[in-house]
Amino acid sequence: MQCSKCRRDAVIFQRYSGLHLCEHHFNRDFEAKAKRAIREHRWIESGDTVAVALSGGKDSSAVLFFLHRLLGERRDVRLMAITVDEGIRGYRDPNRARKIAETIGVPWVTASFADEYGITLDEIVSRKGTGLSCSYCGVLRRALMNRIAREHGVTKFAYGFNLDDEAQSVLMNALRGDADRLTRPMREVEGMVPRIKPFMYIPEREVALYAFLHVEGFDLAGCPYAGDALRGDVRGILDDYTYRHPATKYSLVNLGEALRGAERPEGEGLRICERCGEPCGKICRTCQVLDEVRKGG
Ligand code: SF4
Repeated sequence: MQCSKCRRDAVIFQRYSGLHLCEHHFNRDFEAKAKRAIREHRWIESGDTVAVALSGGKDSSAVLFFLHRLLGERRDVRLMAITVDEGIRGYRDPNRARKIAETIGVPWVTASFADEYGITLDEIVSRKGTGLSCSYCGVLRRALMNRIAREHGVTKFAYGFNLDDEAQSVLMNALRGDADRLTRPMREVEGMVPRIKPFMYIPEREVALYAFLHVEGFDLAGCPYAGDALRGDVRGILDDYTYRHPATKYSLVNLGEALRGAERPEGEGLRICERCGEPCGKICRTCQVLDEVRKGG
């Protein structure tokens, strides 16, 4: 197939746009979408230090490459990468992330659950089973990332979440009847570093292609504890439906943004955990999780 914009060979077909694109026009289209997301949300400003949460997988590696291309020449914005080693044997290898950051040319720092909390995710799973592994992992990782951010003056965390991730989350919240998550405003919380998602308007397969075209050595394996059955079901439903109605994922993401932009009464303000001094909501979830997982059994 030829590119719809020139005579070169196409590397991808976009069902939602009806376009075949060569590598050159794919890159232009991809980066224009990511820049639009950043511009519309005013995600990066002069003086920012942006840290990519670099797992070493395709999404975060692609976002690091893209942001380096976008910001590499700017003197008023710093870019770095942070890798948190949760302690998952055979899956998380911080050296892979370090090599990717070094090859792209971005400063890299790492931290681990073992050093920070004295327990690895493997140990947590052996004590508590896999049922809540992602919940424990997410709470502890976020707290650790936030601490590193303060040490390095980070003002924004960049994540590689793509259109599929975002659309799945909106549909999952709807299926659970979770109005709170569907309508939680995108306001900043004092003490927590804001998250930015430059690829939120880009389908997963295009993020994968961008990673293959630009980054070497990223990890293709999945986490052995990734067992969210609802997300798996929703992914299947959405992929099937989107095959027949190609704009569906965009519709869901737009719906999610419209709902989160809606006004709603202010909830509890930010508090500081009495035990660890970290910012938190009503009570510090990190300290709760550490109590739970350290108890064992
Ligand atoms: Fe942690 Fe779950 Fe992600 Fe694995 S899939 S790294 S357990 S959040």
